[in-house]
Amino acid sequence: MYDVAEVRKDFPILGREVYGKPLVYLDNAATVQKPRQVVEAMSEEYYNVNANVHRGVHFLSQQATELHEAARETVRRFLNARSTAEIVFTRGTTESINLVAACFGEAFMREGDEVIVSEMEHHANIVSWQLLQARKGIRLRVIPVDDRGQLRMDEYERLFNERTRIVSVTHVSNVLGTVNPVRRIVDVAHAHGVPVLIDGAQSTPHFAVDVQSLGCDFFAFSGHKVYGPTGIGVLYGKEEWLDRLPPYMGGGEMIGHVSFEHTTFADLPLKFEAGTPDYVASTGLARALDYVSGLGMDAIQAHERDLTRYALDRLREIPGMRILGEADDHDAVVSFLVGNIHHLDMGTLLDRLGIAVRTGHHCAEPLMRRFGVEGTVRASFALYNTRAEIDALADGIVRVSRMF
Ligand code: PLP
Repeated sequence: MYDVAEVRKDFPILGREVYGKPLVYLDNAATVQKPRQVVEAMSEEYYNVNANVHRGVHFLSQQATELHEAARETVRRFLNARSTAEIVFTRGTTESINLVAACFGEAFMREGDEVIVSEMEHHANIVSWQLLQARKGIRLRVIPVDDRGQLRMDEYERLFNERTRIVSVTHVSNVLGTVNPVRRIVDVAHAHGVPVLIDGAQSTPHFAVDVQSLGCDFFAFSGHKVYGPTGIGVLYGKEEWLDRLPPYMGGGEMIGHVSFEHTTFADLPLKFEAGTPDYVASTGLARALDYVSGLGMDAIQAHERDLTRYALDRLREIPGMRILGEADDHDAVVSFLVGNIHHLDMGTLLDRLGIAVRTGHHCAEPLMRRFGVEGTVRASFALYNTRAEIDALADGIVRVSRMF
């Protein structure tokens, strides 16, 4: 039995009020709140262990290094990667995608070569490739989205040609909640001999991910969206790919030997980790992954899917409601507009009722254009949300609508 009341006790912030109203936090796709266990693990490390990793012979440095490398093993287990050599710590999904675009682009793409992305990508998975476009003259090909917010898989297959070098798509849309058929996407790409990068920013918090069964070549996610701290994320890459990529940044930790004539690089994964890593954040991330694994990713998914269905049902009852994203496989994100009410007005007035939602383009302007809107209101759910909070949202929307 999933006991959401018990779970909420781990998140002190959920007990606070805003404008004298109980906080209803529904901006989880942007970032989630942190359980006590994560914050405490990080405080404990700062108070009792802190020392720079990988360099020192002294006790604390070795203990900090052990924690940092144990965290890498926790991430490996969470993703079911083959080896910790395949787990690179970055600052987040954005940096992980930029790393692949820069390094893969450097090694394997030339003018006229193509990357396939989709119309529902976050800007992180568009602009990173556009930077490469500006540098090397590569081209972006775009998988269109249908009216229900699903990828047009027939069009996807037609985008491949002899210049296609990589596919880079999101696992779950941060706007529509659509869960993309990643295994099929990978199979089609591999049939053309093309590797695939999956943006897992919006999947890792909500359901179990197994990179080996997905078959993807790269996978990116952010710590702060999966109950860990800000400033840390992960790039998973198959060893055979990471081995063939040049380093991303130069500096300490990522080298073998350095001379002015010739420098060699460290083995994986340190080749991609120049400079002092955020070794306290890695501990926090590991604690967060242990936390969600302890609750059970399947139990979290069942709870959140129930909330999503309930929210869709409640919101559909509201006059003038337009929901963007009606995919069959719909995760814990609901985007909407009501009548002619501007998304910003709706968000601002809901905030006054204590309800935190996100408004705007959600870093997905091409998708907004696809649906002919400038922005939406987005409610997104986490493992600690309740049906009562969805009721508060629905009642709040009705109240705001009556004011217009
Ligand atoms: N990709 C998707 C689908 C996202 O939802 C986000 C964040 O909202 C990102 C990438 C970027 O994540 P970060 O800002 O943590 O790097």
